[in-house]
This record gives sequence, C-alpha cells and structure tokens, in this order.
Amino acid sequence: MTAPPLAERGAAIRVTGVVQGVGFRPFVLRRARELALTGFVCNDVRGVLVHAEGEAAAVAQLIADLPALAPPLASVDAVAVSELAPSGAAEFAIVGSRGAGEPSALVGIDAATCADCLAELLDPADRRFRYPFTNCTNCGPRFTIVREVPYDRARTTMAAFTMCPACQAEYDDPADRRFHAQPNACPACGPRLRLAGGVPPGPHLDAVAAAAAALRAGAVLGVKGLGGYHLACRADDRDAVARLRGRKHREDKPFAVMVADAAAARELVHLSVEEEALLGSVARPIVLARRRDDARVAPAVAPVHRELGVVLPYTPLHHLLLADAGAPLVMTSGNRSDEPIAYRDEDAAERLSGIADALLLHDRPIHMRTDDSVARVAAGRPAVLRRARGLVPGRLVLPVPAPRPLLACGAHLKSTFCVAKDDRAWVSHHIGDLDDAATRQSFADGVAHFESLFAVAPEVVAHDLHPDYASTAYALERDGVRHVGVQHHHAHLAAVLAEHGEHGPAVGAIFDGSGFGDDGTAWGGELLVGGLRGSVRAGHLLAVGLPGGDRAARQPWRMAAAWLVAAGEQGPKVPAVPRALRGAVRPQDGEVVCTMARRGFSAPPTSSVGRLFDAVAALSGVRATCSYEGQAAIELEALADPLHGGAYPLVLRADGILDARPLIRAAADDAEGGVAPALVSARLHNAVAQATGAACARLAEEHGTPTVVLAGGVWANRLLLERTVALLQSLGLRILLPERLPAGDGAISFGQAAVAAALDEAGS
Ligand code: ZN
Ligand code: ZN
Ligand code: FE
Repeated sequence: MTAPPLAERGAAIRVTGVVQGVGFRPFVLRRARELALTGFVCNDVRGVLVHAEGEAAAVAQLIADLPALAPPLASVDAVAVSELAPSGAAEFAIVGSRGAGEPSALVGIDAATCADCLAELLDPADRRFRYPFTNCTNCGPRFTIVREVPYDRARTTMAAFTMCPACQAEYDDPADRRFHAQPNACPACGPRLRLAGGVPPGPHLDAVAAAAAALRAGAVLGVKGLGGYHLACRADDRDAVARLRGRKHREDKPFAVMVADAAAARELVHLSVEEEALLGSVARPIVLARRRDDARVAPAVAPVHRELGVVLPYTPLHHLLLADAGAPLVMTSGNRSDEPIAYRDEDAAERLSGIADALLLHDRPIHMRTDDSVARVAAGRPAVLRRARGLVPGRLVLPVPAPRPLLACGAHLKSTFCVAKDDRAWVSHHIGDLDDAATRQSFADGVAHFESLFAVAPEVVAHDLHPDYASTAYALERDGVRHVGVQHHHAHLAAVLAEHGEHGPAVGAIFDGSGFGDDGTAWGGELLVGGLRGSVRAGHLLAVGLPGGDRAARQPWRMAAAWLVAAGEQGPKVPAVPRALRGAVRPQDGEVVCTMARRGFSAPPTSSVGRLFDAVAALSGVRATCSYEGQAAIELEALADPLHGGAYPLVLRADGILDARPLIRAAADDAEGGVAPALVSARLHNAVAQATGAACARLAEEHGTPTVVLAGGVWANRLLLERTVALLQSLGLRILLPERLPAGDGAISFGQAAVAAALDEAGS
C-alpha cells in the first residue's frame, strides 16, 4: 500500500477561554514546530489566534492538541476553525498582539508554586535559590496583582519592578518557561522580603530564616501572603496558640494549619485519595478533613471540632517558612474577629501591631484582598465552602445565556457578587459580612473592578428581596438598569441547578439560617419546587417566633425557649430555663423571652432549620450563646454519635409542613432526663435527614421530577448531608449538591444571576 499524497491545508484557529498569561502561545509555538507547521500565533481581544499551514494531518493534530495538551493553568472554552488559503509562510512564530475593542481575554487565578519553580527555590546553584517571589508562566500571582486588563506587567502591582537583563531575556524567549510571565522576578530585580519589629535578623540569617527562628521560639508573626496578611504561630505550641487567640479576640473559631507537604498533612488528618487531590490542587484550598487522634496540634487550634483545616504552601515564601520552621503553622487571616483580612501594609502594621510580635513583609502590593479558599470532600464529592484565592476569578457557565450584561449583588453575610454576559459568569471572591463599613467598601470596589476586568456594563441588576441587606441597597442605587428581585431560597435552588447546567424543575430542600420570604417573614426551612424562572413553596418547617429577632442567632437559648413555648412545654408554671441551661441563662431573662415568644411580641416568625439546630443545641446544654454564627449547630454536629440510629419524631403533615414540636418535646425530655448530648444530637440529625428524605420523595412524586437539590448553609453540616444523601439515593432520587460554590450565601449571587438571565431571556 502506498501512502496517500500529502494534502496541504491552512487553518485559522481561534481559541477562547483562559489562554492569556498562562504560557499558551509558547505551547502553540512548540507544538506547531514539532508538527512542522508554519504560520503564527498571537493574543487578541478574544483570546488566542493561530494561523497554521502545512500537511493536513498535522494541522488536524494541532487543532486536537490545543485543548488536549494545553498548559496547566489554561482553560480552553472553545476552539473555532475556519479554512484559509496557505500563505506560504516559511516558519512558525509568535507575533504581537492584534486587534482592539472589547477586552474579554480572561484574568487567571493565583496558582500555587509549580514543581519546576520549587526545584529552583531549593537548589543552591540556582540564581533563584531561596528567592520567595519565584514564579513562572505555570504558577504565581495573577488575580491578586492585576489592576486592569489586558493582563500585562504594566497593569499589575509588579509595574514598579524593572526586570534585570537575565529576567528580561527569559521573558522575551518563547522557549523559556518564563516567556511573558508578567510577575517574573529574581533577587536582583524583584520584590524583597523584610522582617519588621521584634526580632532583629542575625547577620547570617535571611528574613525567612529569622522569621522561622522567631516562630520556633513561640512568636506570633504577621506574614504578608498573596491575598492578604496571615497570622502565624506554631500549631503545636499551646502557649503561642493561646496568645494568638487572646490577642485576636477570636474565642472559638477554628484556625487552619499549614503543613510542609502531604506527608505532614497525613500526620494531622485522615486523607482519602479525593481529599489529598483537593489539598494538592493548583488552587491550594484549606481542606477540612477528619483530625487524627494523635495529631500533634494544640487543642485550642480547633476546639470541639472533629475536623481540622489543613493547607499546603502555595507561595515560595510559604515553602521556605514551613521548611525552616520545621513544624506545622497556624495560618489564620490577619485581622481581629469579624474584620476583613488586612492587605495594605500601613493598615496591617496598625491593625496587627497588638497581635503580631513581628511582621514578615514585602514590597509587592496586593491589589485585591482575597482570603484563602476552603473546601472539603463530603458525600463523596469535592465541595467548596469558601470560594476565594486560587479559585477566583474562575468562570462559571449560565445554563440560560444572559441577553443583556448583568450584575447580581448576592446576600448580606458571606457576601459575593456576580457579573455576567452571554453564558459567562464571574462570581467574586468571598467578600465577608456587609455589616462592616470597610467590607461594604470592598464590595463596591470589587464590583467596579470586576466590571472593568470582564468588560461587563450591567443593564440588569439582580438582588435579594431583603430590604435591609446592604447588597439590596447597593443594587437599588444603580440607575438606568432593570432591577430583578430574587427570593433568597429560590436563588439557593437556582445556584445549584445552574452550576450543574440545569434549568429544573427540581425539588429543593433549602435549609439555612434566614432569608427574606415572599410573605415578608424569615424563611429557612423551605421545600421548593421549581426551576430557574420560578419556584413555589411546597412546604416548610413549622414557623416559631424568634424572640429578639436577629439576636436569637447568637443566643441559641432564645430559640430553645421559643420552641419549648411552641411545643406547649413552657407554661407559666414551668421554669422558663431548661435544666441544661440553668447557670448559663438568668431565670428572669428566660421568663422575658418565653413571654415574648408566647405573645409574639418582638418575636417575628421563622421557619429556619438553622435555628431549630440552635434550639436543640441549647436544650441539650451544648451551647447557650455563640461567638460566631452557626457555632451551636457546628458543635452539636461535632459531638453527635455517628453510630446511633435513633430519631426524634419530625412530622411531615399532609399540607407539607414539617412539625418539629414533637421533636422538641422528645429532646427536652431527653435533656431533662440526662441523656448524653451525643445521642440527642444524633436523634436530631437522623430526624431531619429522614423527614427531608420523605418530604422530597413525596414532592418528587407529586411533581413528576426525580431531581432533588440540597442547598443553604445548613448543608455545610456533613453528618446531615451524608445521612440525607444516602436516604435520597436509597429512594432512587437524583441529587444535585453545591460543589463549585458554597452551600451557604456565597452562592446567592450566582443563583440570582441565573434567575435574572432566565427571566430576561423570557422577557418576563
Ligand atoms: Zn512555576
Ligand atoms: Zn531579575
Ligand atoms: Fe441563605
């Protein structure tokens, strides 16, 4: 058999997605030369454009390889090919950027140090030996240093550093790993580290080594990272951890621990294959995993919790610090409780002065404050709990493309926003709680930044229905746009549908702390049926009064009193304060709250499942008051006996109401009778899982859909989630869970965007 004659072919290939600033052009150049093709590759406003000509089979191979062999940080959305008459080009080259107009080439994520850079960092013969800002096209800062687009050095916080000849040569060489690596730097020309205050570096020590020596001796250190400052101390040093807690005014909220590598992580937590993959992923999130009994970590790092958050080093600075310190380090956000993380040097120096013994600083400014991301594996699937550094500004896809550019303003706590055009949506990093004025400013600044980065000029602005949310107020201040109000729990449902590319209909069990309902009351235990364009409330947890309104969220004993009153357990003759809480609550306060609940005075009704967990936590004596939102429920989960199969009666009525009064009566009896909180907790979890399973099965049958969505902050409860998923699976239902976005209110903005796009598309 003879070979067929070689056919010549020319092709114009447009590649869209995250393809700029990630080494895409050198990759195309290398591959095209290997395939003996001629032509060129360049960046343009839409992404990367390739003209390739040569043997037809080789051109086809290149087209196939572009998405398949793309560099690690690239993410190819589409490869569009049109035929072209061969021009007779003599070679293949990278040519200058072309075109003007709307920039939509995407900004990448901040990526963990790659293996090549790590090897150079640790190689005494390399010119970047121990240089804490080593990076290349495959790794390093992006989102946190970008001021404007298009993404190049002059528009980043690296603009002030002029490359030395050696760095410039790498930057200009298409064959080099640092070709057009915008933050390229070395000890001769790049950012520098210094240690300020407290511990003067010895003559033989560099700043990292001196900082590590201070840490080893028990110091609390402020460390400037990628998206902000951390506070660090040895995780195995009880005194240091106690000092950090005291100075930070953070009584109980768990700290994350940074470990040198996966082996060190396995000494602290049990890791499944999936968890280890998540830990080592390029986003390097904090991964919550089950703590080992023999973990050498001070108890105050994560009091009560069965899980521990571990994270691997994601910058060269972290790698050096962990290696030099020789022990796992607490790495918690550099702030006092409830404030946003510090990221500007002057601000950090002031705010951290009373907390840190010394500051490990550098002179590369952080443009975008970004917290660490938090993730875990639950019910066999990886799930993001806080979406920030390393994941943002990763793009999500809307199942119904937005006919007009839009902005969705999200919720109020754990705030995020989302900008979108056509089917592309960019959800912001976790911004924080909008009660704080500085956080509200970050929110407004962030919106402006995203609108510019992604060239979105919103004509539609979506928002929550809650009139008192700062995000709602912000949305309504935007003039000349169409406003779309989206009910909170419908947004939760839509967010999960949309991240899975679905429209619905589905049954949603949407359980959270609180969200503004269609009837103006606080919802939070909702059984919804619907899809992107709308949903109906097919059932909910029986509502009870929330005595003292929002204050009840931080004072679970108020919810215990309210539920006892609702359950008829708390008549005038019965002591208002359950036995487990005597001592924690003054009797006269208990009387007042019970009276409020009985009369409905200053006790707005709520159907919140989060508050039901609070009530049982208080009843069982686990916690009467909280230092952070959700603490009571989290601690109740932590101590549940996972082997106990008993369940309280949580009654699903014919009208779809879940009546928890019998549950409360049984839990109160158990608590009064001295039943261990571990059993009380297990019986609550099992009851909610079983009732949810039964309710979802019934609604799925009635409405002819097999799909169930679990969303809302309550589903961050792993025990509840896994029990419920197992039940739903055994009933043959199809389950969609929050994965790329949090279960809680961090997903609301994306849900609002999906709903607003679908409504705008429908012209309704
Ligand atoms: Zn690298
Ligand atoms: Zn240099
Ligand atoms: Fe919510």
